[in-house]
Amino acid sequence: MKPLHELVRPNIWKLKPYSSARDEFQGNASVYLDANESPYNEPFNRYPDPLQNALKQKISELKKVRPESIFLGNGSDEPIDLIIRTFCEPGTDNIVSISPSYGMYEVAADVNNVEFRKVPLNNRFGLDVPNLIEAADAHTKVIFLCSPNNPTGNKLKRSRLYEVLNSFEGIVVIDEAYIDFSNETSFTGELDRFPNLIVLQTLSKAWGAAGIRLGMAFASPEIVALLNKIKYPYNINLLTQQKALEILNKSDRMQKQLQIILEERERLYFALEMLPCVLQVYPTDANFFLAEVQDADKLYNELIKHGIIIRNRSTVPLCANCVRISVGTPAENNALLDALKKITL
Ligand SMILES: *Cc1c(COP(=O)(O)O)cnc(C)c1O
Repeated sequence: MKPLHELVRPNIWKLKPYSSARDEFQGNASVYLDANESPYNEPFNRYPDPLQNALKQKISELKKVRPESIFLGNGSDEPIDLIIRTFCEPGTDNIVSISPSYGMYEVAADVNNVEFRKVPLNNRFGLDVPNLIEAADAHTKVIFLCSPNNPTGNKLKRSRLYEVLNSFEGIVVIDEAYIDFSNETSFTGELDRFPNLIVLQTLSKAWGAAGIRLGMAFASPEIVALLNKIKYPYNINLLTQQKALEILNKSDRMQKQLQIILEERERLYFALEMLPCVLQVYPTDANFFLAEVQDADKLYNELIKHGIIIRNRSTVPLCANCVRISVGTPAENNALLDALKKITL
């Protein structure tokens, strides 16, 4: 890895961050008159903890990552944007990623006027490391990878991810939004070996909490400090911090739901494979399937008539006539299968 100060934008490296009342005094007092808050309407009158210490303590125990290596954001969307703003000089630097993959990386790059280079996956949706490295140059600051990948569902080969981490001198982001559905171990265990690694996870998928917006980035304490420096001071609101703690304290509940989703995924795979309108169902390590069908546009519209919405991915590279279907409850999956049996394309 290049020295961190060579990767970070000079203005961000020099930046003196905003210092809030809650940064300047930490600890317990009986009277707080330092933040122009109202004394009424407890507890919502108070600004939330800017560094979410209680929540990070819990996440630290669950994920076996020390608190200084955890950054929390308003969904994964926030760290995706902040990583780009920390490392990529608009109009000069670039990002390398894979195609097809999660659309937010490119949108965040576009918003920041940072060139986004897409390297196609191979015809089995595998990572082509030589082409990926070939696409990078001296101005490539970040590589975004997603494993298990959205919308293809497969995980990327671990040995290839190590190759990228070892051979690329800049930042490697591995988005693990779907890791809980996979038998693969998280790359959070590799943070000490790879100072250029950032792992993204979220409460939006297996934890069933997309509505509260909590994304996690795991990285070296130095990288986490940079992200903290440029985030909005109170980026995670009080309601989200409280609810996230409550949800994370019930991990047995999550595990039970996860088990059902995995069983349903198995059942759905074989049931979908049997349907005449489905040409092939791709293997998945996530809570959704990519499936090639006879006519994706028509299938999508017919399912709407049954009140069922799936994602039409037929305009995505390598995904002609493909739809993406999330695994629902057993009843929802039955409704889907019943509808699919009635549809003739
Ligand atoms: C759903 C998803 C996320 C989650 O984003 P949030 O902003 O945390 O809801 C992140 N990455 C990928 C690839 C996803 O599919």
